[in-house]
Amino acid sequence: MLTGRRYLLAFTPGQETFAELVGDACRMVWNTGLEQRRAYRRRGAFIGYVEQARQMAEAKKDFPWLAEAPSHTLQQTLRDLEKACKTHGTFKVRWRSKRKNAPSFRFPDPKHIAVERVSRRWGRVRLPKLGWVRFRWTRPLGGMVRNVTVLKDGGRWYISFCVEDGLAESTPNGKPPVGVDRGVAVAVATSDGWMRDREFVTLGEAVRLKRLQQQLARQRKGSARRSATKAKIGRLNARVRARRTDFVAWTANRLTRDHGLVVVEDLKVKNMTASAKGTLEQPGSRVRQKAGLNRSILAKGWGGLLAALEHKARCNGSRIVRVPPAYTSQTCAACGHCAPDNRESQAVFRCRACGHQANADVNAAKNILAAGLAVTGRGDLAAGRSAKRQPPETEAV
Ligand SMILES: [Zn+2]
Repeated sequence: MLTGRRYLLAFTPGQETFAELVGDACRMVWNTGLEQRRAYRRRGAFIGYVEQARQMAEAKKDFPWLAEAPSHTLQQTLRDLEKACKTHGTFKVRWRSKRKNAPSFRFPDPKHIAVERVSRRWGRVRLPKLGWVRFRWTRPLGGMVRNVTVLKDGGRWYISFCVEDGLAESTPNGKPPVGVDRGVAVAVATSDGWMRDREFVTLGEAVRLKRLQQQLARQRKGSARRSATKAKIGRLNARVRARRTDFVAWTANRLTRDHGLVVVEDLKVKNMTASAKGTLEQPGSRVRQKAGLNRSILAKGWGGLLAALEHKARCNGSRIVRVPPAYTSQTCAACGHCAPDNRESQAVFRCRACGHQANADVNAAKNILAAGLAVTGRGDLAAGRSAKRQPPETEAV
């Protein structure tokens, strides 16, 4: 199976400058390639990777900066572009901007890459045109390197190895099924009442972020102070992102390790207005600000959790089933009565028909599980009935 391993790079100043150049070159190749593809499409023609790569090789004579960058990374950019255009459509693929897109480029060929461990804490990797680059050896590579991506994140450079770990997919673990809901009150709630939450932004960080953003608004464009403020915001965001990644990995591992089938809501639609209303009930302006921040971060993290679940499921012998999110938060998991006023508040669900009371997120997770079991043909296990036998959950969040 393929897995990713990411390490912090320690470029020399020269290497860093060069990496920025390569990032610039890849971005320009992306944008030029996209422009060309669009121009062709507008007049009813088509240009593909092979022709674009040929033209790029020719263009190197006229543009020395293009010849300076490792040719494989540029070709890889064109391949990525082709894939993006095939998946999303030529006119939906985005431009890459220097301001918004952090540099990232891939070395696709393992033949040009060598990795060594130099000490307990340090390793080094040889990359085309960059030479030996040191990185923090925080964990073993654990397999054969397939390709390497160099990227900048939150002002720091990282190297990400795609590794074939030689492990086969696990056999089904035979554990019980579970439904998972993206909670309103907590981050993740399951049908068996397990709830997990994490603070992604601390109160102090939320305040600091706001202050930095106000500062940024006052500073003149292109000034040195402004870019310093930007870097501070970037570092803060990177820290928050790291917490989210950690949370997502931990949760995905836990869920797939303990369950043979994990049912989740499909990403597309979920009414988030309810959560906005909920924040008004919380006192204190800063609390509200922070809660809003945490929630928006989690909203982004949900897609990441789905991806992490798919990945971890293969390692842990579990299966992921996605169901469309339809009325899961309004339907009674005990009797099936569906009405908007079943939802007494953000946290509490009370059925108007049978009086069943439960934590709202857990109730939704039970409905998700039932929908998943119906899809997989295990509906005769009667999730509805077994849920009915369970005592109402009154667990406070
Ligand atoms: Zn009911």
